[in-house]
Amino acid sequence: MNQIPINMKNHWMPFTNNKMFQKQPQMFQKAEGVRYWTPEGQEILDGSSGLFTCAAGHGRKEIAEAVYKQLMELDYSPHFQRAAPISFELAEALSDLLPEGLDRIFFGSSGSEAVDSAMKICLAYHKAKGEPQRTRFVSRSWGYHGVNLGGTSLAGMVGNRRDFSGVTCDVVHMRHTWNEDQRFTKGQPQDGADLADDLEEICQTYGGETIAAVFVEPIAGSIGTIVPPVGYLQRLRELADKYGILLVFDEVITGFGRTGSAFAAQEFGVIPDVMTMAKALTNGAIPMSAVAVKTEIQAAVIDSITADRPELMHGYTYSAHPVACAAALATLGIYKNDGLFEKAASFSPTFLDAVFSLRNLPQVSDLRGYGMMAGIQLTPGETPGAKGSAVQRKLFDEGLHVKATGDALIFAPALVTEEEDLSGMIDVLQKVLGQADL
Ligand code: PMP
Repeated sequence: MNQIPINMKNHWMPFTNNKMFQKQPQMFQKAEGVRYWTPEGQEILDGSSGLFTCAAGHGRKEIAEAVYKQLMELDYSPHFQRAAPISFELAEALSDLLPEGLDRIFFGSSGSEAVDSAMKICLAYHKAKGEPQRTRFVSRSWGYHGVNLGGTSLAGMVGNRRDFSGVTCDVVHMRHTWNEDQRFTKGQPQDGADLADDLEEICQTYGGETIAAVFVEPIAGSIGTIVPPVGYLQRLRELADKYGILLVFDEVITGFGRTGSAFAAQEFGVIPDVMTMAKALTNGAIPMSAVAVKTEIQAAVIDSITADRPELMHGYTYSAHPVACAAALATLGIYKNDGLFEKAASFSPTFLDAVFSLRNLPQVSDLRGYGMMAGIQLTPGETPGAKGSAVQRKLFDEGLHVKATGDALIFAPALVTEEEDLSGMIDVLQKVLGQADL
């Protein structure tokens, strides 16, 4: 294929081996619904909702119009005892969607900012409650919590942590919940709730009273969709309560209908103390994230301060950006008006059946899935990760965008995906993963 003439020198591409990168990246020029188009005009079905961002499909006019209107009315508003009305409107709309009690909301611009903000809020809470020694965190092997220094410390995908180990926070990792016996399990594995007891063991080893919070993705997304065993999240909740540890759900991927409920917390019936969200909050159109905390967490932090200074020395220039708030409100309107969370729940069996039709292909060694997200594990190649990136490239050439992570694919199309689009995506997966040699 002809490549468009571009100067590749100046843009340092994220998560890319820039030095070794010989060819042009596969590029997107245009998007609508569940499709992208390359600069050369090739149609690419979007099997990963962008990066799990564009749940309502690309090119939503409602969002574009809300953003334009807000830009012309109030393009930016500063903090420090000041705010824009639209930020309160969004916080209220979000609290209506969140589990009851999680109704105090702090805004940022990325999932990574939400995670680091959540960590600082947990530390501030314990300090306010007279337990300043709770400075250690627990997270899980194979977890992903963004790339700021807090999230890098929590990272259970060790490649993200390795180069920064000298400056990371004190984090102890539990085991991940996947094992060989779970291969090809659709939905939640029945066995494995006892893996949550790793938290108890960590409390006994390090002292539960030293731990501020335990961070988990309810479904581990970035590693390739690892679904929690039945009872696992419930057990984590019990143990967190027993040791006075805050339970944080990182719902940056699982939020906004991906599981068939507004949030995985409601889907699995386990309410965390703190929740992070981003991505589909604005349908990916404008960067925005949020941390929701229980009423009493904010109350404790606020009440702890008497002097004339903020109780939480934290915030970003772009926190609660009015244009992002407008994009988020328009997005929440679409989710509601189009019934997209309900659609995800009712379409999920069709989606998962389609994914599991790939079961016997030569390149598939495991399939996992829940709601509208699935993981397709490839048979291992000689160099870990090499097959994943080769397959990602081949799928694109054949007309499908799916994100690879190591040797797994994260297949999570938009919640608006119709059966016909899904069949088109599955056809491409079948064609590429059906090849004996890759
Ligand atoms: N947490 C989770 C669970 C994520 O999946 C991600 C992004 N994939 C992040 C945090 C970080 O979000 P961002 O890339 O917007 O900083």
